[in-house]
Amino acid sequence: MIFEVLTLFPDIFKSFLAESLLAKARAKGLVSVELVNIRDFAHDRHRTADDRPYGGGPGMVLKAEPVALALESLLSSGGPRPLVINLTPSGRLLDQALVRRLSGERRLILICGRYEGIDQRVLDRFADLELSVGDYVLNGGEVPAMAIMEAVSRLIPGFLGRPESSEDESHSYGLLEYPLYTRPRQWRGLEVPGILLSGHHAQVAAFRLAEAVAKTRSIRPELLEDPDLVERVAEVLGAQGSAMGPRARKRPGPSSQSPIPPGRSGGEHMPHKEINGKTFPVDDEGFLLDHVLWDEDWVMIVAGEEEIEELTDDHRAVLESLRAYRDEHGLPPRVRDMTQVTGFKMKYIYEMFPSGPGKGACKMAGLSKPEGCV
Ligand code: SAM
Repeated sequence: MIFEVLTLFPDIFKSFLAESLLAKARAKGLVSVELVNIRDFAHDRHRTADDRPYGGGPGMVLKAEPVALALESLLSSGGPRPLVINLTPSGRLLDQALVRRLSGERRLILICGRYEGIDQRVLDRFADLELSVGDYVLNGGEVPAMAIMEAVSRLIPGFLGRPESSEDESHSYGLLEYPLYTRPRQWRGLEVPGILLSGHHAQVAAFRLAEAVAKTRSIRPELLEDPDLVERVAEVLGAQGSAMGPRARKRPGPSSQSPIPPGRSGGEHMPHKEINGKTFPVDDEGFLLDHVLWDEDWVMIVAGEEEIEELTDDHRAVLESLRAYRDEHGLPPRVRDMTQVTGFKMKYIYEMFPSGPGKGACKMAGLSKPEGCV
C-alpha cells in the first residue's frame, strides 16, 4: 500500500511513522508513506500557500495552484493509479466498511486541508472522494490522514501479528466488541466473568456474542437495525430471531456472513434451551447467558422446570423487581437482599419458586446466579 500525504505540516507525522506497527510495516515493505509539503509548490517570493476567501468571511483558504502542482508531481511519477482523497469534515463519514474498501486499493493520496479549507476548483479537478473522520472539526487533515493510514494498514495482510486480531473487533461484522478482561482474575474485588475461565469455547463465543449485542444495543442501537445483522447474529446463536430481543425481528432472505469469523467456534454445540422454535443459550447451570434475550418464552421454560403450574401476579412482581434491580446495579440482588428488593417474605418467595430465590427466581428473570447462591 502506498500512502502519499499532501500537507503543510509534514513534521506532524514524524513520530507516528517512526514508531510502532506502522514503522515495522514500512521496514517490511508492506506500506510506504511519502510526505509532500504543499508549500514546496508555492513558487512566489513568500511561498504563499493560502489566501483570503472570495466573497468574504473569516480565515484563509489553501490556494488551488500549489495543491495542484503537488498532486501533479505525484501523478506524473508513474506507479499504480491512485485514489485521491480530500479530508474534510463535510465529506462522507469513514467507517470500517469503507476502510476495508480502501485497504483493497494499492495507492492512496491523502490531501490534508488547513485553515478554512481548500479552493474547490482543485478538488473538483483531482479528488475522487471526500472523507470525514467524524462530525467534529479539527485544525487540519493530518490527524484524519493518520487515522486513515492506521485503520487501513491494520487490514493489510502481514501488518498485524495475528490476522484474526482485526476480524472480530468492533465494527468488523457490525457489532461493537464484547468487553475484554486480562489477569489478575480478581481486581479490586471485581471478578472476571466465570464463563471466560471455563475453557468451553462454544460457551465463551456465545457469551461474547451476547455481550456484544447487549453493548451495541445500549451504546449504538442503530447498528442493530441492519436486517442482515439480525439474521447473522440469530443464526450464530441459533435463536431464530429472538437473539436481538423484541425490537428486532428476523427477516427472510439468505444470510451472508457469520458474526463469528470462520474457523472460530460457532453456536451449534453450545448449551441451550428451546421452546416454540426459539433457542436460548445458557451457561452450565442453565442460567440465560444474556439478560437481553429474556422474554415470555424464557419465563415459560423456567416455570416448567420449577413445576409452577400457574404464574401469578406475585411471580410477575418478583421478576419485575429483580430485573429492575439488575438494571440499576448491573448484578442480580443477593438472596439475602431479596426480601427488600421484592417486598415479599423469604418464606413466600421459596413457596413461589420451589428451587429458591437465587436459582429459581433469578433464573426465571433471565439474570445470572446471584453472588453467594449455591
Ligand atoms: N471550514 C471547514 C468546514 O467548515 O467544513 C473546516 C476546515 S478545518 C478547520 C481545516 C481542515 O481540517 C479541513 O480542510 C480538513 O482537511 C481538516 N479536517 C477538520 N476536521 C475534519 C474531519 N472531521 N474529517 C476530515 N478532515 C477534517
